[in-house]
Amino acid sequence: MDVDALPPEGFVPPRDGLSSASGSGAASAPRPAPRRYATPLEALRTVYGFDAFRGEQAEIIDHVTAGGDVVVLMPTGGGKSVCYQIPALVREGTGLVVSPLIALMHDQVDALRANGVRAAYLNSTQAPAERAQVERDYLAGELDLLYVAPERLNTETTLRLLQRGALSVIAIDEAHCVSQWGHDFRPDYLGLGDLAERFPGVPRLALTATATPATHREIAERLQMPQARHFVASFDRPNIQYRIEPKVEPRKQLLAFLRSMPDGAAGIVYALSRKSVDQTAAYLRTQGIDALPYHAGLDASTRALHQSRFLREDGVVMVATIAFGMGIDKPDVRFVAHIDLPKSVEGYYQETGRAGRDGEPSLAWMAYGLGDVVQQRRMIDQSPGDRTYKMRLGQHLDAMLALCETVACRRQNLLGYFGQEAGPCGNCDTCLTPPETWDGLIPAQKLLSTIVRLQRERGQAFGAGHLIDILRGAKTDRIAQQGHDALKTYGIGADLSEQDWRSVIRQLLARGILVAKGEYGTLALSEVSAGVLSGTTPVPLRRDVLGRGGGSGGGGSRGRRSAASASLGEADQPLFEALRAWRAEEARRQGVPAYIVFGDATLRALAEHRPASEAELGGISGIGEKKREAYGEAVLAVIAAA
Ligand code: ADP
Ligand code: ZN
Repeated sequence: MDVDALPPEGFVPPRDGLSSASGSGAASAPRPAPRRYATPLEALRTVYGFDAFRGEQAEIIDHVTAGGDVVVLMPTGGGKSVCYQIPALVREGTGLVVSPLIALMHDQVDALRANGVRAAYLNSTQAPAERAQVERDYLAGELDLLYVAPERLNTETTLRLLQRGALSVIAIDEAHCVSQWGHDFRPDYLGLGDLAERFPGVPRLALTATATPATHREIAERLQMPQARHFVASFDRPNIQYRIEPKVEPRKQLLAFLRSMPDGAAGIVYALSRKSVDQTAAYLRTQGIDALPYHAGLDASTRALHQSRFLREDGVVMVATIAFGMGIDKPDVRFVAHIDLPKSVEGYYQETGRAGRDGEPSLAWMAYGLGDVVQQRRMIDQSPGDRTYKMRLGQHLDAMLALCETVACRRQNLLGYFGQEAGPCGNCDTCLTPPETWDGLIPAQKLLSTIVRLQRERGQAFGAGHLIDILRGAKTDRIAQQGHDALKTYGIGADLSEQDWRSVIRQLLARGILVAKGEYGTLALSEVSAGVLSGTTPVPLRRDVLGRGGGSGGGGSRGRRSAASASLGEADQPLFEALRAWRAEEARRQGVPAYIVFGDATLRALAEHRPASEAELGGISGIGEKKREAYGEAVLAVIAAA
């Protein structure tokens, strides 16, 4: 099993198309006269074209604008960016944004410029002349926001440069990278604590989407923010629907799931190994799906090309190991599928969280089976770590399995894992189709006693397949050779199908009533099996249902409607599609992702409300002053022609 590594830092997708007025060429950007906004709300409305703040945004922004420090924990898609961008637009000076995701800086800066914000970045991918121009602009006070990678910020030259100009706020994005125990630790982040002394009086924000309270405290400590106010948002992602189904024929199930997605829907399929990524992507391509592989074993230029196509084109399905994802802030990812079990709930939450950043309905789908449990238990067994380490991996896996096997709301389970309470959500498979439970005591006893007999009478141990054959009374060569048809339990489980038995074994493994051992995943009893054999431990089991909620079980082509228009009325569809075509053309011309021109929600609002004048355009969410000037006329023409 090759566990994939993250792509090398500084890896940037190639930009297709020619640069244009809103391209990221720093030297060519227009520089309008400086303008400060009287209030945060005025900035929100004028620059972003949004009506109102969401959740705790207003409070956070007020606190920072008044000069206070904050630590912000908000899920992906929660709206962290405006929390530091708006104070930077309201306060005097330039807002400094520390971000480890160099690959993202281009697009973040492009998105800001598209809204008329004077933004730039400094990182290692830049030509010296471009960097020098950004430095001059900063010193001249002509930048609202400056993005810097931590390794650059930690150099004396950069710090001196910044001290010669004026900073309005300092935002430390992905602040959990400062945590030495976290999975994204970056040594450069440790140096960021010094910013407090270097820039006294400049308010600082630490932002992250990582949920654990321990990370939270560590951030405030290491970044030297003892006075900071802490804002912890709910980690719920209500627009993501969770679905987990038993793995029977994974390829067919995945294909059916993908075909149930609307046309043009972009998504990610996660697999554990590079080999499985390559094979799955190749298979999907033979089925007419625009799937691309991504893992650390591919060369940098292939990875860059695939990432760029995923970001810039409609409907690309990225089949990837976990090497893909960190720092992908494509807002319109409509689904995330897992064809292998993630190793922890944290991983699952983070990976599924890449869907639906734009708040639009999205899906998190997973197929999970007996093989996953056996394989992961074996990987933990064979991992080189010490006992404590293995125990921790085991706990992570147990929590993940509990989520898979729960008969209660998935979201409730997920949020509960992060210490947040919630009621049943109504938007997960178990809420939508409550699973039936059945009494699995007798089958469990039949299985356990077969294992015991083989062990006692013959000193043998077997994996799931052969045990099921014995229980179902199959006539295989192996059974004949071993004389297993003479066992007392031979054929006593013929009332259940092979699939039923796999479900029973999977659930017993998930609960630790069975353990899988060694390279072949042979099954053995655990400390808690005795209670089942004696009948004192009840064994309620979940009845597996395949293809719940239209996710699987059907052929057909990908839905006719486009992903983003699914909730639009029939009459508004043609206009929506016309606007989408216009947007694609405009984005291609500028060489930027489509969402930088307009997000899906904005296109939908345009198709619904059909504004007929420049003034009416201003009322559409996501159209600020700059975009109204840049695209107003074109959009009105598309609407008029519809
Ligand atoms: P995060 O960085 O927390 O993942 P973003 O800052 O990228 O989230 O915001 C997620 C989405 O929500 C973006 O599309 C953004 O434009 C939108 N958004 C943020 N704040 C608001 C708001 N007050 N009103 C409407 N949309 C908003
Ligand atoms: Zn639910």
